[in-house]
Amino acid sequence: MRITDDRYTRDRLKFDLAMRLIRHEARTRTIRSWTGLSDDRIRKLFRSYVEESGHSTLRRHRGKSPRQPAWFLRNATVRRHAASLGALFCALGLLQRSAAQPAGNTVAGLRWCETFCRAYEEYAAAHGDRHISFEHACFLRLALERQAELCVEQCAGCGALVIISPYAVTPASCEFCVGLHRPGH
Ligand SMILES: [Zn+2]
Repeated sequence: MRITDDRYTRDRLKFDLAMRLIRHEARTRTIRSWTGLSDDRIRKLFRSYVEESGHSTLRRHRGKSPRQPAWFLRNATVRRHAASLGALFCALGLLQRSAAQPAGNTVAGLRWCETFCRAYEEYAAAHGDRHISFEHACFLRLALERQAELCVEQCAGCGALVIISPYAVTPASCEFCVGLHRPGH
């Protein structure tokens, strides 16, 4: 039964995705819009996850989502982390305009969310210290896609990906090259 199979696949994907989002401390609103699960179902999943895993410090975030692009440029560490996450978004095809987040509640939409989680997990694995929260990562991707407040550039010194303000007047430079003084320059 094709319809039943599809429904089963979708339900399974929704459940797995919700658990992944809970682990990343995504906001309830994000979990609801990405999975289509009800607030009540999310609350129960959250409770059972905390009970089973013993992660009593895990929080549910309900406040407003991040909206400040300047936050990603405020110091060298955050700029480096944002560049690393931005490079993963590019590599996993999450920044192509045509591949914008598909409508939730479809298998394609759920797969897109899984790819986003993969980018965030690879970022977290590469940096022991996560400076960028899951919600900030969502905002970063949106801002990079809009290209109005933040954009992706190449470092003029080494070609690494950097994130800059579109109003920046100096040449783009990564956090490594910015401190380098080349002979003759
Ligand atoms: Zn560089």
